[in-house]
Amino acid sequence: MKIKKYIANDFQEALKMVKAEMGSNAVILHQHRVKEKGLRGLFKKSKVEVVAAVEDTPYSVPKDIITKKDINELKNLIKTIATEKNTQIFENGVKSITSKLLEYGIEKELSQLLGEGIDELDEVGKELLKKRIKAFLGAPQPLDSGKSKKVLFIGPTGVGKTTTVAKIASHLILNEGKKVMLVTADVFRIAAYEQIKSYGDILGVPVRVVSNVFEFHKLQPEFKNYDVVLIDTAGRSHKDEKRVNELKTFMKYAECDEIYLCLSATTRPQDLKEVIKKYDFAGNYKLIFTKLDETDNYSSILNAVYYSGQPISYFTNGQIVPDDLMLADSEIIFSSIVKGY
Ligand code: GDP
Repeated sequence: MKIKKYIANDFQEALKMVKAEMGSNAVILHQHRVKEKGLRGLFKKSKVEVVAAVEDTPYSVPKDIITKKDINELKNLIKTIATEKNTQIFENGVKSITSKLLEYGIEKELSQLLGEGIDELDEVGKELLKKRIKAFLGAPQPLDSGKSKKVLFIGPTGVGKTTTVAKIASHLILNEGKKVMLVTADVFRIAAYEQIKSYGDILGVPVRVVSNVFEFHKLQPEFKNYDVVLIDTAGRSHKDEKRVNELKTFMKYAECDEIYLCLSATTRPQDLKEVIKKYDFAGNYKLIFTKLDETDNYSSILNAVYYSGQPISYFTNGQIVPDDLMLADSEIIFSSIVKGY
């Protein structure tokens, strides 16, 4: 098996590099964002690092042959290779499983990557698909309360950010015995403060409200008394430039150790790409998906990882604090795809 690391500006570009060099049988083993270390890195956009692998196959076609062939010849070549490999290909060259993944709502290139070479969803096909989804999503990356102190939660309005902060706070207190403090930078909605305050009261932890990063810094001496400070931010419409700019300023100076972007599993596909693009300024973050209980289709989760190149951490599947929180689990997504097969 050949394994190689690629660095690119975004995930799509990295995939193109993988495909060009390793062919479309390559599987993504691992991907994350990297930033150049030191001062120079501060002013540079983060890059995406992708580790890909491909089986050494007797069917690998030299790259220069592919580029010189016209499209029809290329299609025939692929068909011949596929027949030899006993792989079913449709007239238009799209494989059956790939088209199922497309129908499910997964981005075209990702569908091809996940479905490549899987003839049907029999036991072998299912096992392979499950492995690929797992490899693509990587292991869930939850909050490491031993390393991270100031943890920021961002995301569009109403996705369930505050509820998720309360769930994570409960988990840290009840299961890890940590001392937690809650801060809300949501001064736009009185109800938002009341909501998090009532969670704080139930959990027996202090809740502070700040209207800007200067007020946040004034709280620093208090932070010393806590293991983890969870910071909830105002739910912003990603279309509201002013609010997004305020968040950028807050993030720039708050020096948080970790950032979580909360997204709802019910986000419409056309909105998902736009939201992720808008939050690109956040640099390195982890994804939390909420409201898995409100849909049977989790294509948005795979697509979000594909668009952003960021790891997943938690899923939430209901309104109940603290119960409806779990570590992100690729099997849930796989099961929903193969349901009925
Ligand atoms: P925020 O504006 O992003 O902070 O969202 P809130 O935490 O205020 O939640 C908005 C609504 O979503 C509330 O009614 C929550 O109870 C609900 N909610 C949060 N998480 C989940 C979830 O996992 N599933 C469902 N069905 N509802 C949720």
